[in-house]
Amino acid sequence: MLGLMQNWPLLCHRIIDHAAAIHGKQEVVTRSVEGPIHRTNYAEIRARALKVGQQLDKHGIKIGDRVATIAWNTWRHLEAWYGIMGIGAICHTVNPRLFPDQIVWIVNHAQDRIMMTDLTFVPLLEKIADKMPSVERFIVFTDKAHMPQTTLKNAISYEEWIAEVDGNFQWKEFDENTAAAMCYTSGTTGDPKGVLYSHRSNVLHALMANNTDALGTRASDTMLPVVPLFHANSWGIAFSAPTMGTKLVMPGAKLDGASVYELLSTERVTYTAGVPTVWLMLLQYMAAEKKTLPDLKVLICGGSAMPRSMIKAFVDQGVEVRHAWGMTEMSPIGTVGALKPPFANLTGDPRLDILQTQGYPPFGVQMKITDDNGKDLPWDGKTFGRLKVSGPSISKAYYRVETNILDDKGFFDTGDVATIDADAYMRITDRSKDVIKSGGEWISSIDLENLAVGHPKVLEAAVIGVHHPKWDERPLLIVQLKPEQKASRDEILQYMDGKIAKWWMPDDVQFVDAIPHTATGKILKTALRDQFKNYQFP
Ligand code: ADP
Repeated sequence: MLGLMQNWPLLCHRIIDHAAAIHGKQEVVTRSVEGPIHRTNYAEIRARALKVGQQLDKHGIKIGDRVATIAWNTWRHLEAWYGIMGIGAICHTVNPRLFPDQIVWIVNHAQDRIMMTDLTFVPLLEKIADKMPSVERFIVFTDKAHMPQTTLKNAISYEEWIAEVDGNFQWKEFDENTAAAMCYTSGTTGDPKGVLYSHRSNVLHALMANNTDALGTRASDTMLPVVPLFHANSWGIAFSAPTMGTKLVMPGAKLDGASVYELLSTERVTYTAGVPTVWLMLLQYMAAEKKTLPDLKVLICGGSAMPRSMIKAFVDQGVEVRHAWGMTEMSPIGTVGALKPPFANLTGDPRLDILQTQGYPPFGVQMKITDDNGKDLPWDGKTFGRLKVSGPSISKAYYRVETNILDDKGFFDTGDVATIDADAYMRITDRSKDVIKSGGEWISSIDLENLAVGHPKVLEAAVIGVHHPKWDERPLLIVQLKPEQKASRDEILQYMDGKIAKWWMPDDVQFVDAIPHTATGKILKTALRDQFKNYQFP
């Protein structure tokens, strides 16, 4: 027997409809790419998103067609986001930090028909536009006054473009499993892979994110997503914040410590989310300028492991740190590190021990660790295994790729290696390809990096496995020192001594001017492995 409830498809545009109807006056504030602070609200965003939908419809964009955005977090990008999805087209957020060749590859693979972009990226796109023949028209997120002369095909400013229609338009209706958005993983191994979100997966993910022990904000909160809309579905925040009527503060093009601090402070932001590199810049700025963040309640950090010293720096500021783990393929939330009751009253190091884990899954994510043969491993906090996940907002396949990516139980192998403890707190040990295999035993590169960045002179640290005649692989620590600092190999190793098992100690330290990063701010280990491929331990 079926239940007797209404069939109310879970469609993304219902989120902006709700925000406009119930929280219509709630503000969306942006540091515009043109410079000044811009203020609008959810009612206005919806009205202008309808114009985007109307214009795309007029252009002949149909359900399932791809419309790309390559742009910063701004109110216009948010309008386009909902406008594209609201007619059943697919909002393909492209990461501008990828190499130009990767952008070309991705746009050709996705066959994007229209591309919306910021002033910042016009010169970049002009160089590669002729290699992306599927793009029929470029819309630049600006107004007529700021519109540059450009060779981009049929280019028009966004403001002129939406002014051509009256907004008297209705969203399209379709099945909730229709594709809504697409995001390619950065492809540090092999070609980038297209993750294709559905309306249903995005709405369910928004509800999951709104769990108060996850990213859940209230109508009285202000959220600043430093994480871009083009990074892993904006961690769901472009959906979850409007469902709650939370004020949004969009940072635009400026993500340096001073600019982020200024917005956090002047807009009295209570929740913020971003990757460790962003928080590193913020902390450096705050330390240099002796600034504090009295309004900030919760800081969500994910994308790479958050070092203990960084967690402590924010905790000391009175901020609740939530270390989160996820993947583009997971929409992206996997786990979030809120403190369960037995741990809520811990202080000092025991509290940091829990905060340093990547947390536990909210309802909607199931996880397990297995050995290489798929056998479940115990949740004892010690046993490492391949981390596998399943849930309604987790990929079952990649766009236009035939390969099966699920195991026989329907779980997706994340490529991460992790432990899970008896309280379900998960700790990422490594990417499976980064873990160091020394004499048949595993050493976590992440643990060593976290420890090394705790040294007061170290800005960033990376650990890679280097061939060793006896042990097969041994850890090499690569360090970027803070500006003007000098340190010796022994000084760094002495700092680490006693804090980890003896056999985990890196065999050597190499100093570099800059640690390379991927387009999503992670340490680019492939480049370091290349750089040190002829390295031999002393
Ligand atoms: P990309 O590969 O395009 O950078 P993702 O952002 O989807 O894309 O990367 C997901 C991966 O990032 C995870 O599989 C994991 O290895 C890593 N990651 C994400 N969050 C964390 C975290 N808190 N700690 C350690 N690693 C993390």
